[in-house]
Amino acid sequence: MHIFTKIALLRAFLKEIKAQNKLIGFVPTMGALHNGHLSLIAESRLKTEITVCSIFVNPTQFSSETDLEKYPQNISSDSELLQKAGCDVLFCPDVSEMYPDKPAIEMRFKVLDQVQEGVHRLGHFNGVALIVTKLFHIVSPDFAFFGQKDLQQCLIIRQLVNELNFDIRIAIIPTVRESDGLAMSSRNQRLNTDERKRAISLFKALTFAREALLKREAWSEIMKQVNLIFEKHQTIPEYFELVDSSNLSLIVDYTQVEHPVICVSALVGEIRLIDNIFIHENS
Ligand code: AMP
Repeated sequence: MHIFTKIALLRAFLKEIKAQNKLIGFVPTMGALHNGHLSLIAESRLKTEITVCSIFVNPTQFSSETDLEKYPQNISSDSELLQKAGCDVLFCPDVSEMYPDKPAIEMRFKVLDQVQEGVHRLGHFNGVALIVTKLFHIVSPDFAFFGQKDLQQCLIIRQLVNELNFDIRIAIIPTVRESDGLAMSSRNQRLNTDERKRAISLFKALTFAREALLKREAWSEIMKQVNLIFEKHQTIPEYFELVDSSNLSLIVDYTQVEHPVICVSALVGEIRLIDNIFIHENS
């Protein structure tokens, strides 16, 4: 696996790859890799000839200084995992390489960044869109792979790619879960043993609500049960919403939209987790 920390050297390397007309797949990450990330690498390897993974804990997408400082980092075990997974190129720049100056550009998404994560993490999607734009320009891949766990991020990136005419195909990969259903996340590493057990509340609430909706129970009744699940697991929900997955707008009757999804964010101790579940299996 080739490892680059400098933009110019990565660009020079990829220029040669492109001259050979090889398809490039790109998997942007913040490291602390788990099987969710590795499933994106596997998908990229299936679809393309050269897989580039980036590891960069992007400061502009964190609204809290402590959250940024506490974000788990382990570049040596990450690069071992990537090597084993058959990744071809790792790009792991430092902050001064990506942001020699404080960025002046801000990105807004009108509607998509005004709900869910956008409400609870002010400026988060500006940071995400900035770094993804920069990385897309640097890597210039044919395909880029993102996880459905971060559904709102996927929609924002789709909008970015469409409106700014990036010639990149976006692939969205299903959420990889632990055996009890907890969505894999780098943040799970920060849960203590008790919190780890309680963290199952998100998946429990999502699967309960999905089943109840399919049985045509009323959302207001479902929410009562969902709140009991959170209470029992000492989890504090920030939002638990039934939305249209094409634009994240709230819906009342899930049968009226093609791909309804339930999205949740909740605090287990100090750790903020997100997850979602589509109502129809093949969405
Ligand atoms: P992160 O390192 O958390 O920024 O995530 C990098 C990429 O991995 C994003 O596209 C995430 O949506 C994706 N990802 C994170 N967790 C999972 C998971 N459990 N299953 C599938 N993809 C994931």
